Amino acid sequence: MRLRHIPGAEETIAASPYVVQDPQAQKGRWDQLFGNTNPIEIEVGMGKGRFIMELAQKNPGINYIGIERYSSVLLRGLQKRAELELDNIFFMCIDAKTLADVFAPGEVNRIYLNFSDPWPKDRHAKRRLTSPEFMAVYDSVLAPEGTVEFKTDNRGLFDYSLESIPAAGWTVKAHTFDLHHSDMAEGNVMTEYEIKFSAKGQPICKLVACRTP
Ligand code: SAM
Repeated sequence: MRLRHIPGAEETIAASPYVVQDPQAQKGRWDQLFGNTNPIEIEVGMGKGRFIMELAQKNPGINYIGIERYSSVLLRGLQKRAELELDNIFFMCIDAKTLADVFAPGEVNRIYLNFSDPWPKDRHAKRRLTSPEFMAVYDSVLAPEGTVEFKTDNRGLFDYSLESIPAAGWTVKAHTFDLHHSDMAEGNVMTEYEIKFSAKGQPICKLVACRTP
């Protein structure tokens, strides 16, 4: 995601009814914010939010929270959000490493990671959203039967993840190196990056991980 400072982005986000302004205060009580006890699913690094907003439209019985750490990127999502009539989605402008400050143990039912930044240098490996460090964060907020679903066009990051996720004590229960031509394609919702890369002919990799064997 190319980053550009957008004047007024912070102010717009701070005034938006679609952005949770005090996420730490919701820890253990997200049900109250949504007004129901439906399952909660989150996307870490939602970018402009195409994927999670389409999921929210398709699944009114699930509550969604899109997480993006850059206000200039989240701002783009807010513009689209304003066009939609939805009561099952909020956004947060936070770094995912603080997820345990925001969700109680077991409060999240599914975590989506889509086209996460690859951080190819070894010294930046801890920043990869499928690193053992981040898997430990997800472990602290995910329900016992919860899953992490990861899509990417980046084969290097995917191969790394196929090793780092089991090394963190998780089970990769399904994976494909060509999602759009696999039996995992059914019901697939495309992200912005997925549309861009698959239009160039790049295969999309996907894995689903859980903590039970
Ligand atoms: N998921 C979108 C898609 O597939 O079109 C956007 C992909 S973009 C390459 C990755 C996004 O993840 C960027 O907007 C980046 O700011 C965000 N991101 C990366 N690390 C993050 C973190 N630790 N916490 C929150 N957002 C993060």
